[in-house]
Amino acid sequence: MSQQPGKLIVLTGPSGVGKGTLLKLLLQRHPEVYLSISATTRPPRPHEIDGQHYYFVSHEQFKQMVAQGDLLEWAEFAGNCYGTPRLPVEQRIQQGQWVILEIELQGARQIQQTFPEALRVFILPPSLAELEKRIRDRAQDSEAAIIRRLQRAAEEIAAADEFDLQVVNDQLQTTLTWLEAALFLSQETASRLPTSRR
Ligand code: 5GP
Repeated sequence: MSQQPGKLIVLTGPSGVGKGTLLKLLLQRHPEVYLSISATTRPPRPHEIDGQHYYFVSHEQFKQMVAQGDLLEWAEFAGNCYGTPRLPVEQRIQQGQWVILEIELQGARQIQQTFPEALRVFILPPSLAELEKRIRDRAQDSEAAIIRRLQRAAEEIAAADEFDLQVVNDQLQTTLTWLEAALFLSQETASRLPTSRR
C-alpha cells in the first residue's frame, strides 16, 4: 500500500509577532509534527543552540548550500540569509509526516510555487505599535536591526491577504486554539474558520 504524503504548513508573520512561542506550545501538544530547522548566517542569540534553533553557518557556507540546491527556499532578512534545508523536509513529507516551516514572506512565496498544496498561515500583531513594543521588550537586537525589522514587518503585513488563513495574535491561548483548529481540522472546514481579517 502506498503511503499518504504528509502535509506542509507554512507559518509566516512579522518578527516579534510571537510565532516562536506559539510553535513551542503547539509542538508540545503535537510532538509528531516536525518543525524544520533553518540555516542562517545570523549570529546566535544567547539562548540559541546550533542544530536546535538554527544551523548557524557562515556566508560562505550559505552560498555553497544555495549553489548546491540544498535549500528548499531562502531569503535575506534584516542583513542576514535564512533558508530551509531541503532533504529533511522532503523526506518527512514522503514518509507521511507533517512539517512546519516558520519563515518570512519571500520564502513563503517561493514555497507557494514549489508546494502549492502547502497550507499557508499568516500571524498578525494586534497593531504595529504593539509589535514594536514586543521587539523592544525582547531586547535582542541593535537599534538598526529593530528599525529594519519594523520596516520589513510593515511590508509583510501588507501581504497577509496572500495567505490561506490569517489570525491576530492578541491573546496567546486563543491564537493557539485557533491555530490548532486550523491545522487539524479538514482544509475545507479550516477555510471557513472566522478570522479577524474577514
Ligand atoms: P530571527 O532572526 O528573528 O530568528 O528570524 C528572522 C525572520 O527570518 C523571521 O521572520 C523568521 O520567520 C525568518 N526565517 C527563519 N528561518 C527562515 C528560513 O529558513 N527561510 C526564510 N525565508 N525565512 C526564515
